[in-house]
Amino acid sequence: MKPLLLDVSATDWNLPPKETYREKQIRDWVLKRFVSSYDEMTDLPAPLRSDLASRFRLRAAEPVKVQGSEDTTRKFLWKLGDGSMVESVLIPATLGTSGNRSTRLTLCVSSQVGCAYGCRFCASGIDGWRRNLTAGEIVGQVIEAARIAGRRPDNLVFMGMGEPLANLPNLLQALDLLISPSGIGMGARHITISTSGLAPQIEELAHHPLQFRLALSLHAASDEIRNKIMPVNKRYPLARLLEACDAFVRAKHQQIFFEYILLAGINDTPEQARLLAQHARRLHAKVNLIPYNKVEGLPYERPPETAIRIFCQTLLKGGVRATVRREKGHDIDAACGQLRLKELHQEPRSSD
Ligand code: SAH
Ligand code: SF4
Repeated sequence: MKPLLLDVSATDWNLPPKETYREKQIRDWVLKRFVSSYDEMTDLPAPLRSDLASRFRLRAAEPVKVQGSEDTTRKFLWKLGDGSMVESVLIPATLGTSGNRSTRLTLCVSSQVGCAYGCRFCASGIDGWRRNLTAGEIVGQVIEAARIAGRRPDNLVFMGMGEPLANLPNLLQALDLLISPSGIGMGARHITISTSGLAPQIEELAHHPLQFRLALSLHAASDEIRNKIMPVNKRYPLARLLEACDAFVRAKHQQIFFEYILLAGINDTPEQARLLAQHARRLHAKVNLIPYNKVEGLPYERPPETAIRIFCQTLLKGGVRATVRREKGHDIDAACGQLRLKELHQEPRSSD
């Protein structure tokens, strides 16, 4: 299979000598104007376009399914060059008051095909890990979604399928294409990387110059409970993990987020809320509580609304910034890995 244009360095594009400006032209077509074919690069000579086309694939992903929900959250199931499938979710949010409204688009992207980490509650890990996404495939999700939406997303979150920190070299290469002014040109602070807790990589990122944001998928505030739902905790227990986060916060002078899915009867007790508040105070972290999105075949449920409210109140009373995230894609399986899982297992779908 031909490599993706974005996965090889521009020197391998073999542009005509003395025409170095061609590199910027090509990058602009791909990364700023989101074209879907070489033919659209109208300021390039036809022989150059066909030479590039003969050697490099332009599109990383093609939509095999686009689902929209009533509130216009859209979910994309992409087919990659090798037939693998990954997902992205595009979530609009309206800001401002009437007369001065604007819509912010947040795109949630995948970093791997499948996931090796096997968190018990998550659909992405059910079929295991297949491969890392290349930088071009990560950025390709943004390009394809931007073309469909008619504009570049404002925010990016690595909360789709896969563990981004287990694919660090490709992630960093993708961040460069996303953030650099000669790339897509997104603000680094509008990009959030979510991790299940790979302590050594968190420490490595602490010293990386880019100012992206970090979200830690904590989901339990004691080793006893975290071990039961997140196998990664046996490798990097809470003390080790929180120390790595501490190093990150100190090096970056930046607030981090704790993601905490609420699972009825598992991690929603007052004791967990109290411990979570302790960890959050120590790291000055903001807590996002996420009511669980039911995954078919898994035994977990979201707690009743009152239990969610009480858990949040305990954090607030403990001096912690906490909000309950009301994800908008509930009706289209918008939690990570769910759409692909249905497609792979060929289940009947209710809302095509
Ligand atoms: N592997 C990384 C990033 C992808 S998961 C990580 O775990 O952080 C992105 C977020 O979605 C994580 O916080 C994850 O725990 C959460 N998630 C997974 N399954 C979910 C579900 N069924 N309902 C709600 N959130 C879910
Ligand atoms: Fe992998 Fe994240 Fe899902 Fe855990 S929650 S299985 S790390 S994608």
